[in-house]
Amino acid sequence: MIVLRGGTLLTMDARRTVRRADLLVDRDRIARIGAGRAPRRARVIDCAGRIVIPGLVQAHVHLCQALFRNLADGLPLLEWLSLRIWPLEAAHDARSLGFSARLGIAELLLGGTTSVLDMATVRHTEAVLRAAEDSGIRYAGGKCLMDAGPGPLREDTREALRETLRLGRKWHGAAGGRIRWALCPRFVLSCSLGLLQEVRALSEREGWLVHTHASESRAEVEAVRDHTGTDNVAYLDRIGLCTSRTVLAHCVHVSPGEIRILARSGTSAVHCPGANLKLASGIAPVPKLLAEGVNVALGADGAACNNTLDAFHEMRLAATLHLLEAGAPALPPAEVLAMATIRGARALGLADEIGSLEEGKKADIAVVDVSGPHCQPAGPDPHGTLVYCARASDVTDVIVDGQVVVRGRRLRRLDAERLAAAASAEARRLRARAYLTGIHLKK
Ligand SMILES: [Zn+2]
Repeated sequence: MIVLRGGTLLTMDARRTVRRADLLVDRDRIARIGAGRAPRRARVIDCAGRIVIPGLVQAHVHLCQALFRNLADGLPLLEWLSLRIWPLEAAHDARSLGFSARLGIAELLLGGTTSVLDMATVRHTEAVLRAAEDSGIRYAGGKCLMDAGPGPLREDTREALRETLRLGRKWHGAAGGRIRWALCPRFVLSCSLGLLQEVRALSEREGWLVHTHASESRAEVEAVRDHTGTDNVAYLDRIGLCTSRTVLAHCVHVSPGEIRILARSGTSAVHCPGANLKLASGIAPVPKLLAEGVNVALGADGAACNNTLDAFHEMRLAATLHLLEAGAPALPPAEVLAMATIRGARALGLADEIGSLEEGKKADIAVVDVSGPHCQPAGPDPHGTLVYCARASDVTDVIVDGQVVVRGRRLRRLDAERLAAAASAEARRLRARAYLTGIHLKK
């Protein structure tokens, strides 16, 4: 048992309740919020002067790309993919992929992110799943599916489907339910119609999430239109792939009709402002999506296009970027935090289990120290302090599934210092392999 004592709880319940209260964790659940004597054997974490939030949920990341950080700058999406990301992903072996996943998870947990929806690469997927299992993070994700278009990652359709089915049956529900499988077709341009139809059938049959990219850049949207004769989201809807189990990263260039498709079908959109800015893709119409009733979550995307996995950075961008067009009151900080918590949980199909601090829910929690000069004086709305001022490095303690994974700003299950120190050498070996395969990482 753990008692979080005396913190300010941003519960993110339906009323966005804020309260100063103790929170008792019993095994993997939030057992009690509020007064009551703590059991004598409970471990106490002093949260006086701190903000306690639901663990942050990032509904679109690529752990396989953590090792590509700072290796793919200054390119727009389609060139960034073909000249850097696909050759580098193809050069991964199980060892470098496992390292990349651990590096990414270390950054995520230290910054208060407790749940991710990940897209792995095409091969060696189990290296990512093992890293998730060992590190304690709550993980949804799966093998990337690509059976069309150019590039070294293209696979035979049947083989790709056989492998995703095998891995999904093996890993979905692993680590006490902390790991969940998702079907991950990369994007329309990398996938045959047959593959996408099979993904829909598999998702229906197995109940697995579908995690893909859609309408990130103008060039992509135009290529999809050339290829399919219709808009990207409209095409996915025609195949039957827009459902409440589907999560679409980006949705930057979507028509009013496509926004209505997302709302009607319950498809989640994931806003990735950092990546959208750095790849010069555009700005997603988030206020419009929300106004139409679309569930919008938040994600850092990858360290190769952001170049950080910092949820606080994404929250601050999301809270400010849209005000130019929509006006200063358009995105209150509590609603931005909702995108990074309860709306993310909904995207993952886990809104009944995580995403808010409520009795009976899973104990996925982050404690944030807002005593630093960059957060003080605290205003009347602690959501504002958290979203506008706080940083990932202000996170002191993190609990996932009732397990303390960060204590006093230090990881309990991974060695962050060792991972950071070894990253350059790992990246160098990976780049050498990419060159050896004859794929040149040219400008
Ligand atoms: Zn992505």
